Amino acid sequence: MTKEYKNYINGKWVASSSGEIFENTNPANCNEVLGRFQKSNKKDVDKAVAAAAKAKKMWRETPAPKRGEIMYKVAELLVKHKESLAQDMTKEMGKIIAETRGDVQEAIDLTYFAAGEGRRMAGETVPSELKNKFAMSVRMPLGVVACVTPWNFPLAIPSWKLIPALICGNTAVIKPAEDTPLTVVNFMNIFEKAGLPPGVVNMVTGFGPDAGAPLVEHKDVDMVSFTGSTQTGAGIASACAQRMKQYSLEMGGKNAIIIMDDANLSLALEGVMFGAFGTTGQRCTACSRVVIHKKVAKKFTDMLVERAKKLKLGNGLDEKVDMGPLINDKAREKVHRYVQIGKDEGAKLLTGGNYANGKVLKNGWFYQPTVFADVDSKMRIAQEEIFGPVVGVIACSSFEEAVDIVNDSSYGLSSAIYTQDVNRAFKAIETLETGLTYVNASTIGAEIQLPFGGIKGTGNGHREVGIAALETFSEWKSVFVDY
Ligand code: NAD
Repeated sequence: MTKEYKNYINGKWVASSSGEIFENTNPANCNEVLGRFQKSNKKDVDKAVAAAAKAKKMWRETPAPKRGEIMYKVAELLVKHKESLAQDMTKEMGKIIAETRGDVQEAIDLTYFAAGEGRRMAGETVPSELKNKFAMSVRMPLGVVACVTPWNFPLAIPSWKLIPALICGNTAVIKPAEDTPLTVVNFMNIFEKAGLPPGVVNMVTGFGPDAGAPLVEHKDVDMVSFTGSTQTGAGIASACAQRMKQYSLEMGGKNAIIIMDDANLSLALEGVMFGAFGTTGQRCTACSRVVIHKKVAKKFTDMLVERAKKLKLGNGLDEKVDMGPLINDKAREKVHRYVQIGKDEGAKLLTGGNYANGKVLKNGWFYQPTVFADVDSKMRIAQEEIFGPVVGVIACSSFEEAVDIVNDSSYGLSSAIYTQDVNRAFKAIETLETGLTYVNASTIGAEIQLPFGGIKGTGNGHREVGIAALETFSEWKSVFVDY
């Protein structure tokens, strides 16, 4: 019997009022059903938001250091259950076990970091312009925070939202992606075991239009934190704007690695392999454009193709596997459509470009690692987010041209440059229009002490993790005391 998982509302595990369930399958073997989950609707959302609204007063009045102590327990439990969390994650979203362990580790690091904020969360005291007056600022919670999350970082991204939101004194309702509800069910179990009071965090599983939309639109939700596609994010932004509520958006990317003629090509190759094919290319920070000086383009492209052909595809629980499947059949069709678009646009397909087949692979959503050369920056494969293991090589003649090509994008999440010239490296940091820039490293691999997020079509200026997350999940109050 496949296990049925409930919603988590007001500290209890409850069935959806819809009476409907949906199944979650393993993308590496779609015959394997992992669980049955609640197909939640507006009524369930109403109950979850009511629980969060009721818990608001108690939680904001709980001293921040005490809130932090509970978060330390959450971190300890994440450490304790790291391996089982990673294994469940690989089963439900397909990325290889080394990467899902990394996903859990990001949640652990962030939770320890943010728990400490319970004892800092500093405001300012300033000299008043007037006599007998004390002037200071304090952080205030926003109220009920709605978190709508994607499937590609099933634990890290929910933790990036929930832990800072809770430490700031907000209560929360999360609607995880329909492809990865199990990991967030596991996360709720950890909050429960850590002793988080009922109603402080709540979860409804289900689909975007049925559960996500009513959550975003709910009158008692004060702030929405969303990570996902730019298309969904644009709809959420307008729903929030109409209701005058705060929102934070982290969306798509079209990230590029610049490789200059003085670069260490072996190092750059590692970066491009990791950036393009890590998580099967399904990272918001994935490298899908290589902008390379024409003097080294042919040599590097040959090296890249040779390595891409050697990648071992399969079930990510097998430690020898390099690349897992795509998340679902729709994603695989989308990737395949883009490959056809690339061919039609005149790009040269060097390797890959088709579904991966074979005894083990036939039941999963596997796609061959794909490399295009002769890509022009204006082509759709160089402009639109493909979200799969497809990378396009664009040749350039100078550093200045490389920067122009990278900036010729509606997105602005991550960028990287490989060069041994320190002046070029700093010029790149200054001129690349992205929220993250890496020098002699790939476009991926966030560290939770520093702000994470993008500009342009990637985000609306808010940042996750680091101290910056406190700005996203709290409000300043200026206080003047006359004495
Ligand atoms: P998606 O937009 O399809 O779904 C994201 C979430 O939104 C899911 O929980 C979904 O159920 C929900 N949703 C869908 N329609 C909704 C609606 N009308 N109202 C409310 N909620 C709704 O995105 P996805 O396919 O899950 O994730 C992939 C995308 O996420 C990619 O574009 C990727 O670049 C982006 N992403 C960005 C970051 C970042 O930090 N910038 C990180 C990870 C992923």
